[in-house]
Amino acid sequence: MQIDIEAERKEILSRYKNLIKACKRRLGEGDKEMIRKAFEVAVESHKEMRRKSGEPYIYHPIAVAQICAEEIGLGPTAIVCALLHDTVEDTDLTLEDVKGLFGVKISQIIDGLTKISGVIDNTASIQAENFRKVLLTMSEDVRVILIKLADRLHNMRTLEHMKRDKQVKIASETLYLYSPLAHRLGLNTIKSELEDLGLKYTDEEAYNDIANKLKETEPERKKFIQKFIEPLNEILQEQGFNFKIYGRPKSIYSIYNKIKNKAVPFEEIYDLFAIRIVIDTPYDQEKSDCWKVYSIITDFYHPSPERLRDWISTPKSNGYESLHTTVMGPEGKWVEVQIRTVRMDDLAEKGYAAHWKYKESAAEKENQLEGWLKKIREMLESPDANALEFIDDFKLNLFSDEIFVFTPKGDMKTLPSGATALDFAFDIHTKIGEQCIGAKVNHKLVPLSYELKSGDQAEILTSGKQTPKEDWLGYVITARAKSKIKNALKEQRKKIGEKGKEVLEKKFYKAKLDFTLQNVNDLCNFLKLPSSLELFYRAALGNVDTKEIKEFIKYKENPKKRAPKKSDAQKIEQLVTNARGSSNMLVIGDDMQKLDYNLSPCCNPIPGDDVFGFVTVDEGIKIHRVNCPNAVKLLSNYAYRVVKAKWTNEHLISFLAGIKITGTDELGIVNNITKVISNENHINMRSISFDTDDGIFEGTIMIFVHDTKHLSHLIDNLKKVKGVNAIVRIDEK
Ligand code: MN
Repeated sequence: MQIDIEAERKEILSRYKNLIKACKRRLGEGDKEMIRKAFEVAVESHKEMRRKSGEPYIYHPIAVAQICAEEIGLGPTAIVCALLHDTVEDTDLTLEDVKGLFGVKISQIIDGLTKISGVIDNTASIQAENFRKVLLTMSEDVRVILIKLADRLHNMRTLEHMKRDKQVKIASETLYLYSPLAHRLGLNTIKSELEDLGLKYTDEEAYNDIANKLKETEPERKKFIQKFIEPLNEILQEQGFNFKIYGRPKSIYSIYNKIKNKAVPFEEIYDLFAIRIVIDTPYDQEKSDCWKVYSIITDFYHPSPERLRDWISTPKSNGYESLHTTVMGPEGKWVEVQIRTVRMDDLAEKGYAAHWKYKESAAEKENQLEGWLKKIREMLESPDANALEFIDDFKLNLFSDEIFVFTPKGDMKTLPSGATALDFAFDIHTKIGEQCIGAKVNHKLVPLSYELKSGDQAEILTSGKQTPKEDWLGYVITARAKSKIKNALKEQRKKIGEKGKEVLEKKFYKAKLDFTLQNVNDLCNFLKLPSSLELFYRAALGNVDTKEIKEFIKYKENPKKRAPKKSDAQKIEQLVTNARGSSNMLVIGDDMQKLDYNLSPCCNPIPGDDVFGFVTVDEGIKIHRVNCPNAVKLLSNYAYRVVKAKWTNEHLISFLAGIKITGTDELGIVNNITKVISNENHINMRSISFDTDDGIFEGTIMIFVHDTKHLSHLIDNLKKVKGVNAIVRIDEK
């Protein structure tokens, strides 16, 4: 193929001019020169390189810079970085060169971009560790991730030139990581494009199928939209609105998802499009004008009361503002109508790119950008629900072999998947592991054995009185924690044994019994203990009575008169020791009468809950849930009075549990909820109360269930009731 160098040079320059045109309005003094310099450095560095399509490589960085300027609305710093984004990784230019030419800030961003590419683009599949790097780099400067997003968008747009295996890898990563990210950042147009392109290369058949069907049905749809719009057009004009009204097709990807998730055929999807009304109105009249339009539309078409969404009064967390309603259109078809202003529409489609249009001075524009970047960073850093939701978006739980967990200060630890709070404690420090009594994960108290998930933030609770226990070995999966626990146990046994030996020796002396191996072994047999070590243990814990030794002496003198019963003292400590059995664990559920214990009313534990026993002064042992509001205090102040407890598989008894249901006030919802409960086997309601306020309903139900499995089965069924939004278990009524 003949390459016309001169024509290419012209094309490069013309693309560069286009870029300048796109960002001209936002450039301050010296910015244009800096961008020019970056352009020249990039052209020079990439001059021998070509893309897979055969085009000069420099087309790519220019296109990425164009996306940054035009579609994301970033400023000169980002444009410079976008032009240079592949230089350090792919050419002879070094980071030092960039620093010398453009300063520290820009070299830092380029460094971040190079690192991200290093991990994401060059590995076969993204692992948690790579993602961690993405996250960490991102918090240094958010521009890194925005430029990376622009880079990915351009690569997706030109994916046809890649080999098939690369196409699949890049496209699935895009659906998995980049489109949720774009969504989170409020870049809806980019998100939709990434999704559609992602689908095109991962499931071409489905993509083409939907695309073809959309094309086939287009004339019909257009006719319908025309019919729907016509009368509204007239009225809105009469009312003096300056507006646009049009039908907006749903993206192929969202239709694909609907077909897949709801199992409906293409032909039965009624919302293949939405009607959008965009009004041009001053900022201070936005809200009232949008509602005026709503009123006009619903005078004409009957609205579905359940499907009104007001994101004008309360914008979504990514900044989305709009008023949505669904109305009954011609031919008995439901039609979604979106009402918004020009400003809201721009923001929804372009995210930040639209902001500066509404600001006057360059300084104000720059402030807005900084504010937006700051907001993203805060979102990434804050431990609140939004941030968790953000991490959810990345579907972290799908990363199978590794998880990462944050300390309260935000440091990150990488652990194998399946790791528990106790593993995490040992990972921080041996001492913290050894004294661990529990943890707070995402501010909620959890037991040592709690299995951590990626993105969890965990704080370890310790107590100076805590020591490693035998059953801890069952709670950990990391080799480090296992060996530390084993060492500590060995050490403990040795120490306690030695101490116990001394105690026992004194007791023997007092009883005028020789401290010989023979006597020690005989006492073991007499007390039916497996070994002298166990005897020393008991002695150390104060569980070998002088009375027992005296009886042993009597028995020795007259072996026929068989041993006495064990001490009858109904001391709780004693009972606990017996009930604990070999695993040092209080087993509850069977033999209930034997042991004086009851279920604490403050958290209503039911079988299946993680529980612990607490030895009270005069009410026996109380069983609490580990996430009981009182648990932190009990566990931290009275660790020595805490008894580990677990349930047997007892299913005959019912326990009281409470749930709170929230949702939208659908017709007949109370009836439907109670129906589900009464249809469930062996569940009885003790009390039920409902409140509704402004279409939002809240119900509290106290029920008798067998165990957590039973309860979660019920909750699963209740979730299916139309209108039910969330169900949480509550501690107290
Ligand atoms: Mn690139």
